[in-house]
Amino acid sequence: MKKRIDLSDAGPPQGANAPAGGSAAHAVASVGAIRFNEVATRDGFQIEPTFIPTDDKIALIDALSQCGYAKIEVTSFTSPKAIPMLRDAEEVMGRIQRVPGVEYTVLVPNVRGAERAMESRADELNLVMSVSETHNLANLRMLREKSFSGLAEVIRLVDGRTPINVSLSCCFGCQMEGNVPLATVLSFAERFVNLGVRGLTICDTTGMAHPAQVQAVIAALHARFAHMANAPQLTLHFHNTRGMGLANVLAAVQSGIARFDGSLGGLGGCPYAPGASGNISSEDAIHMLDAMGYDTGIDLGRLLDVARQMPRIVGHDVPGQVAKAGRILDLHPAPAYVAELRGETT
Ligand SMILES: [Zn+2]
Repeated sequence: MKKRIDLSDAGPPQGANAPAGGSAAHAVASVGAIRFNEVATRDGFQIEPTFIPTDDKIALIDALSQCGYAKIEVTSFTSPKAIPMLRDAEEVMGRIQRVPGVEYTVLVPNVRGAERAMESRADELNLVMSVSETHNLANLRMLREKSFSGLAEVIRLVDGRTPINVSLSCCFGCQMEGNVPLATVLSFAERFVNLGVRGLTICDTTGMAHPAQVQAVIAALHARFAHMANAPQLTLHFHNTRGMGLANVLAAVQSGIARFDGSLGGLGGCPYAPGASGNISSEDAIHMLDAMGYDTGIDLGRLLDVARQMPRIVGHDVPGQVAKAGRILDLHPAPAYVAELRGETT
């Protein structure tokens, strides 16, 4: 039987801006609360080999809504032929129980998708393109400039009625093309900001980012937008393909980033990035930040209960580790001989 020790007894000071340890506190003083956007039901479910029943999707989103997320990427308004796994987008959006304070965002590929999303009362539209020409051609079957002009048309049509976020794929490199110049990332980022988008998500689609690169890219983005009155809300989206996911989260936090995408269980991946495993596991990242004393707004115990349902929902094991190992202070009983070795009677 496991014993739960109340973190408030032993843990670091709770609340915003209270990371444990003196030097860490200096490094992260600029970051207050850290907020998470859960993407498992979109980024994760879209590439699952079997269709996740609509009722299961709705139950999962309703459970996630109770965990303290800032945002949940519910689904995608792509063509049901392109992504059959998310063909129930309207029904899911119509039947979830919306919790005040949680934003329900959806992926939108084009004008038709934006119209459907707005009919479904999405709180935000997430547009996506890749900064790598090859990845954009492989994933979206068009040149980057065609993607840009198509998304610009969506932004014009929406005309501020719904906030827009743009996710830029492959910002830290492309598995087919190699290095993607930082100037290219900055250029697309700035062009979207100039169209009035509220936020940008900087994605490491292929899990190629390392912490030093993360700090360099974020510093360049901050420098580019520092002078702007309409500086975008920046979110970082990491994959754990090469085991660097949480190191990259920490590097980003230390660079002043306060918003992250995460996928429950570490679900997801990219069909055009061979061997790519999933997104960072939300619960593993939140557990790390929680242990360090950051305010993530998430009820971690509740989130882990939901995370432990993931293998049943998707029908296979998932990469997330804390759901299996338990939290740092979920103690295990010592073997009986430990008491004997101590000279205690049992
Ligand atoms: Zn992803």
